[in-house]
Amino acid sequence: MKYQRSSALFKNAQATIPGGVNSPVRAFKAVGGHPIFMASAKGAFLTDIDGNTYIDYINSWGPQILGHAHVPVIKAIQEAAENGTSFGTPTELETLIAELVCTMVSYVDQIRMVSSGTEACMSAIRLARGYTGKEKIIKFAGCYHGHSDSFLIEAGSGAVTFGTPSSPGVTQGTAKDTLLATYNDLVSTEHLLKENSGEVAAIIVEPVAGNMGCIPPQPGFLEGLRKLATKHDTLLVFDEVMTGFRLSEGGAAALYGITPDLACFGKVIGGGLPVGAFAGPREIMSHLAPSGPVYQAGTLSGNPLAMSAGYALLSELHGTPNVYDELEARGRALREDISNALHERSVAHQINHVGSMLSVHLCEFPVTDFESAKAGDNDDFKELFHHMLSEGIYLPPSAYESWFLCTCIDDSAHNKTVEAFRSFR
Ligand SMILES: *Cc1c(COP(=O)(O)O)cnc(C)c1O
Repeated sequence: MKYQRSSALFKNAQATIPGGVNSPVRAFKAVGGHPIFMASAKGAFLTDIDGNTYIDYINSWGPQILGHAHVPVIKAIQEAAENGTSFGTPTELETLIAELVCTMVSYVDQIRMVSSGTEACMSAIRLARGYTGKEKIIKFAGCYHGHSDSFLIEAGSGAVTFGTPSSPGVTQGTAKDTLLATYNDLVSTEHLLKENSGEVAAIIVEPVAGNMGCIPPQPGFLEGLRKLATKHDTLLVFDEVMTGFRLSEGGAAALYGITPDLACFGKVIGGGLPVGAFAGPREIMSHLAPSGPVYQAGTLSGNPLAMSAGYALLSELHGTPNVYDELEARGRALREDISNALHERSVAHQINHVGSMLSVHLCEFPVTDFESAKAGDNDDFKELFHHMLSEGIYLPPSAYESWFLCTCIDDSAHNKTVEAFRSFR
């Protein structure tokens, strides 16, 4: 494949955009080489600016669950655009999508729209703090909740500890209120709750982790968090930005049968436009301004183009209940066939998969938390990534990102993907 135009565009972009990209993982730093500039997409396929096509396993990091340029979504955006792109006033569509979410997600009575997953998580935590009157939060190492200050915290020495800032610009003062536990480890969570008794406003978790590769919750983990949160009078916040409307209509909460106190959404809910949301029971949500004292606002929140795209996509998902069974079956089949192909090549691997989320870890041991995810060989992943790219398969450009399947991955795309694994090494 030739990448002349992508290379030239990347060179230009670096002059006026820091690092040449508007979000770091796109720069290919984790895998080496130059990012590829896309020109268009349809169904399961991406086409780059040099005319190469790829089977896409990112799907815009999740939103395109029914494939790219899905006709009902594009039509809805076009129709909305004809009527004006933003009014800064309420519109009927905002209530329609809110009602639809309340139908799809059983524990949600009220929802507030924002413009990104980052905003959703940041605001949910503010609401949790305002509602409980407590200040600290517990998060899990390796879980990503967007780039607001409270979440850019990493583990200090020792597995379970007070956090330290993981980015310049995040203050020590902020970091001290974020406590870090280990994913799939209830003991570390309970320890923090006891040590900080009466001070923890919320436990926030990705109910299926997707930002350290895909890591499913082990049996009992989410149940245990639910019990601990209730026992210690702290809110359980599910960050369903990745999993919401992707693993089932009711997200991971419905899939595993655990009810959080608040949930954050993003990605699928916007149908490919910039949308985030946070939601929960009326008892908690009513503390939000203007009905309550916890302030939160947004000039473009509930934007008509974004709402029309989200409403069109969610309506389709709601109207096609077997879509999630299809995606689960495709994910399972890919997992088996890719695993067999890697066995044939004697490549050590672990494949984690839940529904339409999947990740291939090139290691011999199970990947259940951040430590084990980091222990895999990154050079092997780089090699795999570039091999797949040359075969026309676009994987996430990092070993720490989940793949996202869409319904347009048919048998032919499936077989082409498996064949590409068969020629690895
Ligand atoms: C993507 C993601 C976010 C952040 O969403 P943005 O729209 O990128 O701000 C938050 N939480 C999880 C679990 C995510 O996957």
